[in-house]
Amino acid sequence: MGELEALYRDVVLEHNRRPRNFRRLAAPCGCTDGVNPLCGDRLMVCLRLDGETVAEVAFEGSGCAIAVASASMLTEAVTGQTRAQALALTEAVARMLGGGPDERVDGDLAALAAVSAYPSRVKCATLAWEALRAGLTTGATQVSTEEDGAPQQALAQSQAQARDGY
Ligand code: ZN
Repeated sequence: MGELEALYRDVVLEHNRRPRNFRRLAAPCGCTDGVNPLCGDRLMVCLRLDGETVAEVAFEGSGCAIAVASASMLTEAVTGQTRAQALALTEAVARMLGGGPDERVDGDLAALAAVSAYPSRVKCATLAWEALRAGLTTGATQVSTEEDGAPQQALAQSQAQARDGY
């Protein structure tokens, strides 16, 4: 196991065991329900903005270890950031998960780069970020990682997941 894979495993396990900001916000400005039908992840990301600053972000729901860990890291990373900073980080994380290096991603989040080696899990890792992006832009109350969620696609995905060893 490479250094990044080992770090990735530790970070995902730790955040999954003790998710940060896994709670209901008392007075959110808005919430976005994110679903990843291919894995069964369903996470709701809620925001409280103070002007242009993300004052609080929290999530609820259930998902696989990668989805929960990524959401946990998201809440730590974007709390206190401006809307523009949070959106820039969302783009940087998406690029990193797509396999591109991104020096703007650091801390625990950088370990998520290992997910790019497992294409079937990338949507698990991006789910909370897509919900955040919607909350910060359109205000959509629901986002999905799939346009249509075709059943045969889900089957191919589960086979790919089995192959990837998750
Ligand atoms: Zn998942």
